[in-house]
Amino acid sequence: MKCPRCASTDDKVLESRQNKDGSSIRRRRQCLNCGYRFTSYEKIEEKPIIVIKKDGSEQPFDLRKVERGIRVSTEKLRISAETIDRLLNAVEDEVQEMAGHERRITSRDIGEATLRQLYKVSKVAYVRFAAVYREFNDLDKFIAEIENIASSVSS
Ligand SMILES: [Zn+2]
Repeated sequence: MKCPRCASTDDKVLESRQNKDGSSIRRRRQCLNCGYRFTSYEKIEEKPIIVIKKDGSEQPFDLRKVERGIRVSTEKLRISAETIDRLLNAVEDEVQEMAGHERRITSRDIGEATLRQLYKVSKVAYVRFAAVYREFNDLDKFIAEIENIASSVSS
């Protein structure tokens, strides 16, 4: 598969992971030329998960967007690629579960799922993601959200 960074087609598969119901396989790959890690997906053609955005518009779920958000918020935090992989797996499982048979989920639910998982890994990454993801108009609301998630994580 072509490396998104250097376009080399030499890569190795680091990990393959099937989702819970066996309908898709995600592979973590590493470019043998430049070392870049990326993800590929294999899916049975099925009803995609539809994301309902805040403005009511709909689009197919794309885990790569979550991955980008996580990358941005974990930058320079010395979080291992393995930890980020586990985090992504956990978010994907939550999204699959929440979308259920209807195969529909709101973008807010995806954001919350990502925040829940990020919180367990790094508080700094959590705050960064939250800042990017939400429009907080006051600090109290922001802190209340953090406490809310903190208590649901520890319970
Ligand atoms: Zn490469």
